[in-house]
Amino acid sequence: MTGRTHAAVGIASAAALSLILNVKCSYVFFIGAAIGSLTPDIDLNNSTISKYLNKVIIAMSVILSIVLCVHLKPGIYNLQNHFISSGLFIISMASLISRLTGHRMFSHSLLGFGAFSYGIYILYRPIFAGFVVGYASHILIDLLNYQGEALVFPFKGSYSFRLCKAGGIMDKSMLVISIVVLITLMEKAKWSLQW
Ligand SMILES: [Zn+2]
Repeated sequence: MTGRTHAAVGIASAAALSLILNVKCSYVFFIGAAIGSLTPDIDLNNSTISKYLNKVIIAMSVILSIVLCVHLKPGIYNLQNHFISSGLFIISMASLISRLTGHRMFSHSLLGFGAFSYGIYILYRPIFAGFVVGYASHILIDLLNYQGEALVFPFKGSYSFRLCKAGGIMDKSMLVISIVVLITLMEKAKWSLQW
């Protein structure tokens, strides 16, 4: 599936879930869903999220350097402690493992899902719920593709329903359906979005 389709499905899923659970929608929830729906394809060179990856890595390096400088004063123990519990560090490592293991491996597995979600939970909790919904929607709709997903990575096994390919008619249909569903849901709920 293309990045556009993943983002649209992720946001529509978040909207549907908000309506079902009757919770107030916030922009942050939808932003989280959009980020989560694009994150698994961090393992691709030409995906929507990867186009920004280099900038993200530079930004992360700068932030990590600042964290390093701040924590150098209290001593090496605190520094280690901070790094182990740092969401940024977890996300950076998960991104690196995703790139090294290849497409539809770590980042499309339950382990990767857990790692990225945990990193987000530590890093910025307000977007966590949306992120989880978006990420789950990505893994679910990628199951429709011909190319399987290593859901139980690092164990062997590739899972897919082999129904469509990225950019094909089903991909485009899902994009259109998601947008229609989103507009209908927003109309129905008469949502007033808040931060
Ligand atoms: Zn994917």
